[in-house]
Amino acid sequence: MTTRTQSEQQTSGGGHTETAEESSVRSTRDTDGNSDSDGDPLVTANEVDFAYGAVSVLEGVSVAIRPARITALIGPNGVGKTTLLQALAGLTDPSGGSITYHGPDTVRHIGYLPQNPAFRPGFSALETLEFYASLVGETDPHARLERVGLEAAADRRVEALSGGMTQLLGIAQATIGDPPLVALDEPASGLDPGMTTHVFDVAADLAATGTAVLLTSHDLDLVERTADEVILLDDGGVADQGSPSALLDRYEADSLWETYEAALTGDLHTVRVRGDSS
Ligand code: ADP
Repeated sequence: MTTRTQSEQQTSGGGHTETAEESSVRSTRDTDGNSDSDGDPLVTANEVDFAYGAVSVLEGVSVAIRPARITALIGPNGVGKTTLLQALAGLTDPSGGSITYHGPDTVRHIGYLPQNPAFRPGFSALETLEFYASLVGETDPHARLERVGLEAAADRRVEALSGGMTQLLGIAQATIGDPPLVALDEPASGLDPGMTTHVFDVAADLAATGTAVLLTSHDLDLVERTADEVILLDDGGVADQGSPSALLDRYEADSLWETYEAALTGDLHTVRVRGDSS
């Protein structure tokens, strides 16, 4: 288990982060700290605060990311989706609270697709993956290309790939070493509907093989169809979270978009799961 925190008093000597688990509204798992069944958390955020200098972005965020599921972070621009995704992926340290990784000690814990991934020009898609594979001793990078449907572009130089192909290469790169968590920041940004659907299909395939997939997206239709868990951010915290069907039920909505509007505007009964919210 790896805990990153600037508030050490919120963790207890390598023990389980109970508060984050208790605050996860649909948690039914046991509390032994293991994450080898689908219901147990792989990564938990416990009362996480995040500030850029004096500017506070997140306050008191507690969420749990589980294996074999797609967890989608949604919310308005600038609300802190990327900030939370990067903190959960261990790329940044929170200003307060803690992020705890409960997973196995694999060669690579977390794979990450940034917004607008860029690769070194002059190399083919396969050569690019061969480089990353060599870092973790992986021997079949071509299989990674096949997995995302990019095998026909194996010999194409990365600067000649379309935007969608570049995103797919980035996802393939993120899966090298089979990390238990793959964090994808707006993986379908700027893509046409067909490629967007393909990217979500790839994410679903990853989740089907046990990977915890954490992604941000503004495509609420695909999130509703594909995600197992949705975390809706608003005003520095979690406005609501749950499976798409649970959220639709809660707001008596016909779509995740209606739920989104209702939760953000308070038009319907808004259920706040953030401890300090009214
Ligand atoms: P989202 O992904 O929801 O669009 P972000 O997490 O990217 O939101 O950003 C949340 C807020 O933090 C925004 O107001 C953004 O301008 C600000 N922000 C993001 N990165 C930085 C940074 N490196 N320095 C200062 N402010 C930042």
